[in-house]
Amino acid sequence: MAMTMTYDEFKALHLSIDMTRGKPAAAQLDLSLDLIEAAPSVGYRSRDGIDCRNYGHVLGLPESRELGAQLLGVPAEQVVAAGNSSLELMHDALAFGMLHGMPGGEAWRRANEVAFLCPVPGYDRHFAICEALGIRMIAVPMNDDGPDMEKVEALVAADPAIKGIWCTPLYSNPTGAIYSRGCVDRLARMPTAAPDFRLFWDDAYRFHHLTDERYASPDILTACARAGHPDRALVFASTSKVTFAGGGIAMLAASPANIAWWQRHNGVRTIGPDKLNQLRHVRYLRDRATLERLMERHRAILQPKFDALDATLRALLGDVPGVSWTKPCGGYFVSLYTPDGYAKRTVELAAQAGVVLTPAGAAFPYRLDPRDRHLRIAPSCPSLGEIEQAGQAIALSLRKALDEGARR
Ligand code: PLP
Repeated sequence: MAMTMTYDEFKALHLSIDMTRGKPAAAQLDLSLDLIEAAPSVGYRSRDGIDCRNYGHVLGLPESRELGAQLLGVPAEQVVAAGNSSLELMHDALAFGMLHGMPGGEAWRRANEVAFLCPVPGYDRHFAICEALGIRMIAVPMNDDGPDMEKVEALVAADPAIKGIWCTPLYSNPTGAIYSRGCVDRLARMPTAAPDFRLFWDDAYRFHHLTDERYASPDILTACARAGHPDRALVFASTSKVTFAGGGIAMLAASPANIAWWQRHNGVRTIGPDKLNQLRHVRYLRDRATLERLMERHRAILQPKFDALDATLRALLGDVPGVSWTKPCGGYFVSLYTPDGYAKRTVELAAQAGVVLTPAGAAFPYRLDPRDRHLRIAPSCPSLGEIEQAGQAIALSLRKALDEGARR
């Protein structure tokens, strides 16, 4: 694709395209319409005769926990099946840590300071939880194979205030990084000054492949148990981008001690999850093989969008020094790097041209990208045509920002 238009010509089109969040497209949500259509025939009785309309089963419907166990590769007793949002579970786990402490530990709120390591660029909503709960965020660089482990090991060994680290081990938001075996083993083994240190293991993109290579999330619970830290990891996942982003089921997997801890505190918060939705999901998703077939249909919708974005960027920005972007093998995001100091201005110019991007800096703690060079692009929701236009807007905006810079 040649640079067919100027920035001003593009702006004159008065487009309105939203690329801010990694939402599934309507066509993806349509893939699971049977969940709604089959609801009357699913009814309310579980396999074991549980009346799903009523209270109870705070850890989730047994067959839903079994499905979670199959999907996450852990025993069912170590899985909680919950409401629709894994982010909610992460929030609550951190809130419980602050209010009550982890199993056997002191409430974190009693400490002078609580800090978390935040590999960057990372997921803005992880950082928002820390900020809301008064947890200091320490940025560490994210490499293609996981966080910079030299830095992570040095920090956690020295500082007992560091209580955890955010990890999105597969197709990380927003860089698409895939944690290597070595990195995972080091996270499981590393000595930490805080005895109640936790890996917040957000396996959001466990089944969300974009290529024929189906990368697998490392089994962090086993790695931690083998390393003598059985309680270190809390694993989170959901079907938000498998079935419905606003009506799926979320899961937490962890050691027996952590599950008992969760039950104790969550049992105060709720009398039980939405088991009707869990039942519908169990009947619809059935097993891992069925879910993987569904994910192939998601991929058929998503992959052309990622390809179109990549092709547009290659055609329009391929010759610009200092500009690069990721081509993820899964997940929902592309990271684009501008030369230092140009991300904010590019987002501003793109917005003026009708394409709203995630605010520059959003993928960093406190929204501060120290080099002002990272853009998060979410190509899942807009149409293929809109993706191409958005790619064009980003390219034209970045080029204009660089021109302005050259003239200063
Ligand atoms: N974790 C990551 C890394 C995400 O990118 C997202 C959504 O974009 C979520 C969690 C949200 O998950 P849920 O819908 O289960 O709350």
